[in-house]
Amino acid sequence: SSALPRPSSPRIFVVANQKGGVGKTTTTVNIATALALGGLNVLVVDTDPQGNASTALGVEHSPGTKGTYEVLLEGVGIIEHAQPSPHSPNLHVLPAAIDLAAAELELVNLRGREHRMRDAIEQYVEESGVDYIFFDCPPSLGLLTLNALVASTEILVPIQCEYYALEGVTQLMRTIARVKGNLNDDLELSTILLTMFDQRTNLSREVADEVRKHFPTQTLTPEIPRSVRIAEAPSFGQTVITYQPKSVGAVAYQAAAEEIARRGEV
Ligand code: ADP
Ligand code: MG
Repeated sequence: SSALPRPSSPRIFVVANQKGGVGKTTTTVNIATALALGGLNVLVVDTDPQGNASTALGVEHSPGTKGTYEVLLEGVGIIEHAQPSPHSPNLHVLPAAIDLAAAELELVNLRGREHRMRDAIEQYVEESGVDYIFFDCPPSLGLLTLNALVASTEILVPIQCEYYALEGVTQLMRTIARVKGNLNDDLELSTILLTMFDQRTNLSREVADEVRKHFPTQTLTPEIPRSVRIAEAPSFGQTVITYQPKSVGAVAYQAAAEEIARRGEV
């Protein structure tokens, strides 16, 4: 794949939407892989104890594997536990093992509980030469997601082309406003990606048009189709981009990643 432009300073995205099953993880791993295959240095921080991003990126995350938990709770540097992904030599993953589930409660009593990931990211940016960082979040707004929101400057929201899609976004906008006011002034909803688009239904088209009307500058041009290839890739430890690079889903994700890289920070 062709080389993509390198940002002048690292871009840090939190992939967020408090609804589960909307394509957060799928979007994270495919955009990250496409950027890495385009020659950029990419880190994915798996912030979901389920570890689905770690699975799709082919890195070890069985119980006891060190990663996001140690960074948040023990103040260990990201560089210590980031693993290279077999998909690309310049793609690294800070894995999440199921042990991370306990962090949600254990963080409550720690000093600077909302800033711990931001501190670790600042250090990693200095040590690593990273171009893009992506946080894959669990479907809740607890301290794990909050740490990712505080550590990031851009929000990427995957929106499933379904009824009530915009309601979830309204709720997310309220959360963003709260985080912005209190913890992170730099946070912007920069990017929206329409996912699970079904060509055969008018509903998908209507939802997509509605989202584009509300967020004309943020919404990426490509729409990610509903595709079996996309859904089955993780069971092979793959992203659709590495598993079936010529499939419609892979092509759509590559186009989305390229648009993110070319339009730069919004
Ligand atoms: P989230 O991280 O928001 O919970 P996922 O990315 O895990 O969502 O997606 C939820 C489920 O839908 C997964 O089984 C995933 O493989 C599947 N999926 C995601 N995107 C697509 C798509 N474009 N077409 C078909 N299945 C998809
Ligand atoms: Mg997920």
